Amino acid sequence: MLQEAAREGYDCIIVGAGHGGAQAAASLRQFGFAGSIALIGAEPEMPYDRPALSKDYLAGKKTFDRMYLRPTDFWSARNIVLRRGRRVEVVDPSSKTITLDDSTNVSYGSLIWAAGGAPRALTCDGHNLSGIFYIRNKADCDALIAALPKAKSAVVIGGGFIGLEAAAILRGFGTEVTVVEALNRLLSRVAGEPVSRFYEQEHRRHGVEIRLSAGVQSIAGKNGRVSGVRLNTGETIAADLLIVGIGIIPSVLPLLIAGAEGGNGVNVDEFCRTSLADIYCVGDCACMTRGSGIRIESVQNASDQAITAARAICGELKPYDAVPWFWSNQYDLKLQTIGLNAGYDATILRGDPATRSFSLVYMKSGTVIALDCINMPRDYVQGRKLVETGARIDPTSLADTSLSLKDLVRQ
Ligand SMILES: Cc1cc2nc3c(=O)[nH]c(=O)nc-3n(C[C@H](O)[C@H](O)[C@H](O)COP(=O)(O)OP(=O)(O)OC[C@H]3O[C@@H](n4cnc5c(N)ncnc54)[C@H](O)[C@@H]3O)c2cc1C
Repeated sequence: MLQEAAREGYDCIIVGAGHGGAQAAASLRQFGFAGSIALIGAEPEMPYDRPALSKDYLAGKKTFDRMYLRPTDFWSARNIVLRRGRRVEVVDPSSKTITLDDSTNVSYGSLIWAAGGAPRALTCDGHNLSGIFYIRNKADCDALIAALPKAKSAVVIGGGFIGLEAAAILRGFGTEVTVVEALNRLLSRVAGEPVSRFYEQEHRRHGVEIRLSAGVQSIAGKNGRVSGVRLNTGETIAADLLIVGIGIIPSVLPLLIAGAEGGNGVNVDEFCRTSLADIYCVGDCACMTRGSGIRIESVQNASDQAITAARAICGELKPYDAVPWFWSNQYDLKLQTIGLNAGYDATILRGDPATRSFSLVYMKSGTVIALDCINMPRDYVQGRKLVETGARIDPTSLADTSLSLKDLVRQ
């Protein structure tokens, strides 16, 4: 007698086994979720620390086995089914079923979409040549690492954090590096002018060539391989390889096709709920429509949104209200950011950039909204309170480094 195969299903399915997905699975169990959980990720690896890719891993200072987010037996010990190397292609909210890239259908009670984003790709002439690298996952990074020994020169397209971290590491290997940035300063999307100019100076000091206000017209090639970059300024920069760091496209197509509201990622409310019943979205691909009203790409955001979604699934509706933080390592410089500087109308410099240890305080309507602290861990720790409380502090006191931020909080 023919028997219908039992349909696979889980009480909660998490799509994407990166920072947000791994945290969501761990938090569900932590908050007492007793149902079945599947964590499905497209990458073949166990969940790992993505920021390390453009830092210690690329530099050869950290082996991959030290980058796992949790011990390898963590998932089975908590009865979490970790399915690696599988992509979710279709979401059907009416039957509460997803379809994987091997055509398996799996049903869910709740779904947490934590699929991150894919690197924005070059589209200009020459974009298909070999020797063009992106850094989003381990495979990308391994391909770059394999190509580096043969490369004398590299062009980094995009003067954001990932491009600049890679540039710093390549200089450490002795590679000639040119950074090409379309806007008129580095880090323009994320940092104020003094921070941008400081990093520009540091990179130049380490021998990095920098082209600002320079668009890429096409990629030059020879025998199918990259040989350089033609800029719209008329200049051609010779290079053995290219690293492209021009942002990401949120990986949300299956959710949008399923009818989720969104555009720049998928829209979520303060509990990380999408417009589709029982479907949550967290991390790089979630656009919070209340509070900050934006999509944030950071480990902190992915982890804290995952906790919010897990709580909501466990019946505790606690709005997401974390204070954002971020970091970047370049050379011996550690940048730590607290708060979001979106919409700032004034900045105050604490300390002298020439000492390579200073902070930039971002103000909006007279209140402190964020700080970038460069080799200033004390300001970073103490500045959190100023951001949390939206402190109103006079600019002269803020600029005075003989006053600690802790003292200013007390005042
Ligand atoms: C090189 C690099 C350096 C960074 N440095 C920093 C830093 O210093 N500080 C910081 O705060 N942040 C940093 N970030 C950003 C940070 O890593 C991300 O914000 C964070 O990983 C977001 O977590 P996430 O869970 O949203 O996405 P991810 O961690 O990207 O995880 C998403 C996962 O989903 C998988 N996936 C995608 N589509 C599907 C699908 N359809 N089905 C199944 N699986 C799918 C992906 O393969 C991926 O494994 C860095 C990012 C990169 C790439």
